[in-house]
Amino acid sequence: GRCVVAVDGPSGSGKSTVSRRLASLVDASYLDTGAMYRAITWAVLRSAVDPHDAESVAKVAGETDLEIGVDPQAYSVSVDGTIVDREIRGPEVTGAVSAVSAVPAVRALLVAMQRDIIATAGRIVVEGRDIGSVVAPDAELKVYLTASADARAQRRSTEYATDLTATAADLARRDKFDSTRTADPLRQADDAVVLDTTELGIDEVVTQLRSLLDS
Ligand code: C5P
Repeated sequence: GRCVVAVDGPSGSGKSTVSRRLASLVDASYLDTGAMYRAITWAVLRSAVDPHDAESVAKVAGETDLEIGVDPQAYSVSVDGTIVDREIRGPEVTGAVSAVSAVPAVRALLVAMQRDIIATAGRIVVEGRDIGSVVAPDAELKVYLTASADARAQRRSTEYATDLTATAADLARRDKFDSTRTADPLRQADDAVVLDTTELGIDEVVTQLRSLLDS
């Protein structure tokens, strides 16, 4: 039957790894909404549009053909037919994604797409910032993952092979921007299960989520 698991939280909270693992384990689809905001950001940069020019950003978003797979073991993102999996993790996109994500027209477009994908999926684990609060408020399970700033910077710099100090600064900047923007700021849904992953390994988090799902 239908089952939506919403996994929200800041960067480096372990969201991506945990969500993918959980989806594989329970035979569910997986949707990385951050990758969608990153792909639109890549399209904006390719068009040489200023990420802070909301009107032009909205125009690019409206004209972009975005496709995203939902297989937790082999998902891929493409923009106008070009696979951009690697490009969307680069520093240019990471530096501009908060500004692009703050544009209400971009959010409206992507939230609608996300809801369509969820509606056809049946069982799906969806990770992001606003899944439990905006995209799927009726999700069967809502989780909010957190971790200390140090732990998150450490994980991100390992994951993206970037300098630790620069990564910590970038995370702090994006967290602040993401949680104070006017359109759908990053916040935990009131009914989300909050899990601090600072001292937990991936396996422990996945096990906890699995038992929440079974209960
Ligand atoms: O999770 P990830 O670091 O890939 O997300 C990149 C950016 O996309 C976040 O910093 C945030 O600005 C934006 N985002 C968002 N809403 C989501 C997922 C990501 O605004 N549901």
